[in-house]
Amino acid sequence: MSTDKVVIITGGGRGIGAATAELFAMKGFAVCINYKSNSDAATEVVRSITNKGGLCVPIQADCSVEEDVVRLFTTVDRELGALSVLVNNAGIIRPQCRLEDMDADRINSLLINNVTSYFLCSREAVKRMSIRRGGQGGTIVNVSSGASKSGSPNEYIDYASSKGAIDTLTKGLSIEVADEGIRVNCVRPGLIYTGMHADGGEPDRVNRLKDVIPMKRGGAPKEVAEAIYWLASEKSSFATGSFIDLTGGL
Ligand code: NAP
Repeated sequence: MSTDKVVIITGGGRGIGAATAELFAMKGFAVCINYKSNSDAATEVVRSITNKGGLCVPIQADCSVEEDVVRLFTTVDRELGALSVLVNNAGIIRPQCRLEDMDADRINSLLINNVTSYFLCSREAVKRMSIRRGGQGGTIVNVSSGASKSGSPNEYIDYASSKGAIDTLTKGLSIEVADEGIRVNCVRPGLIYTGMHADGGEPDRVNRLKDVIPMKRGGAPKEVAEAIYWLASEKSSFATGSFIDLTGGL
């Protein structure tokens, strides 16, 4: 399949990122699936996309590490061509606890994985997309969380705060590059069925909480992917600094 649209999806090997990769590939994008360590999961997504005739490459890179991010973007330049869309999606969560039980290692690893990574990837994307620097424009979609508004008390205030930083990054960067051909928008998912909740120590968390969701169900990764795609596409051409909450009413 030939294509002139190129997307990098960080954390594209599993969960919301994998569903987003499938959707962008179906829409004709050449897709870079970035992952940190689970190469089996990433390979499976690549296989699924290529079996359907899509173009997809997996690239291992820890997005919280500056040289990894630079390698990720230069590899995409070389293998796929000019970047059109960045989906900042990679993120982690740590086991549920109260703030008084959090140490600096936990807080710092949360922040570099969930915040530094989005800053570094956005920097590399802006350098390539900005018409001020000779680029052709593009879009960035950040995956934040409903936690940025709830604060996640008694579970993970550190995670929720990292997502608050992503909301602020979205607002600030969207204005900084608004007249450079780059739109920056954000989705804030609520409780979505992915493996992330197991990392928080409660694999069945969505089912436990689904009755407090006004729609009485958790979300599917594909439902988040659809909103990400809309924000990345020309259909949302006048939207920048915008947020879509995907929380079933929570
Ligand atoms: P997931 O299933 O746990 O997948 C996370 C992905 O991120 C994996 O592919 C992982 O790579 C990758 N990753 C983590 N740290 C990375 C790093 N430093 N560099 C590169 N890749 C890294 O998570 P998910 O539930 O799909 O979450 C995706 C995004 O949605 C996250 O930002 C999360 O905070 C947000 N979100 C999720 C929910 C939810 O209910 N699931 C709700 C709100 C927001 P490996 O596969 O190599 O480990």
